[in-house]
Amino acid sequence: ESVIVAIDGPSGTGKSSTSRAVAAALGLSYLDTGAQYRAITWWMISNGVDVQDPAAIATAAAKPAIVSGTDPANPTITVDGVDVTGPIRTPEVTSKVSAVSAVPEVRARITELQRSIASSAATGIVVEGRDIGTTVLPDADLKIFLTASPEARAARRSGELKGTDVAATKEALVKRDAADSSRKTSPLAKADDAVEVDTTDLTLEQVIECVVTLVEE
Ligand code: C5P
Repeated sequence: ESVIVAIDGPSGTGKSSTSRAVAAALGLSYLDTGAQYRAITWWMISNGVDVQDPAAIATAAAKPAIVSGTDPANPTITVDGVDVTGPIRTPEVTSKVSAVSAVPEVRARITELQRSIASSAATGIVVEGRDIGTTVLPDADLKIFLTASPEARAARRSGELKGTDVAATKEALVKRDAADSSRKTSPLAKADDAVEVDTTDLTLEQVIECVVTLVEE
């Protein structure tokens, strides 16, 4: 029996760390859908497509070949055969990804990829993102929605990006969440049947244990 777990929520809630650890603990595959949107954004920037021009993005959306690795111990992603696991984390990609991922043609293409990866996972998969429980995999066996206060999220993100200012990080995070929550096509949202977990006062280990327990129930 293959099990599908959807983990959604804004950035800085511990989504990636939690999803990878849960997948590893349960022997499941792992898919980082944010990395796919970052990869297509990286391709648009690298090919001179104006990210403020939705029509140009829509026209180019089908061009890049995006391949996601699904090993939770080593999540990689390639675009046209180039490993972009590192380059998709730059501040430039981060600041432009919301605009690119709001374009319906981009979402349709990436959603189709996600469904095909999920349906071919042998034992099952943990898929993390913003619209997995609501749109991509509405029949998931378990849906989790992670939240945390903006202060906690900014503090965690600044900890990851050593040396960056917490106030500036918070401002960028809040701005990106607002853009992701207000777009017309499959915005960041909690599914009606998702279990909400507020991670503000929890350690990563506690969040992982909570989700593993929910999967096993
Ligand atoms: O999770 P991460 O911060 O890497 O996601 C990067 C961006 O990709 C998000 O800010 C959002 O614009 C987009 N995204 C999305 N739908 C998903 C996952 C990510 O629109 N399922």
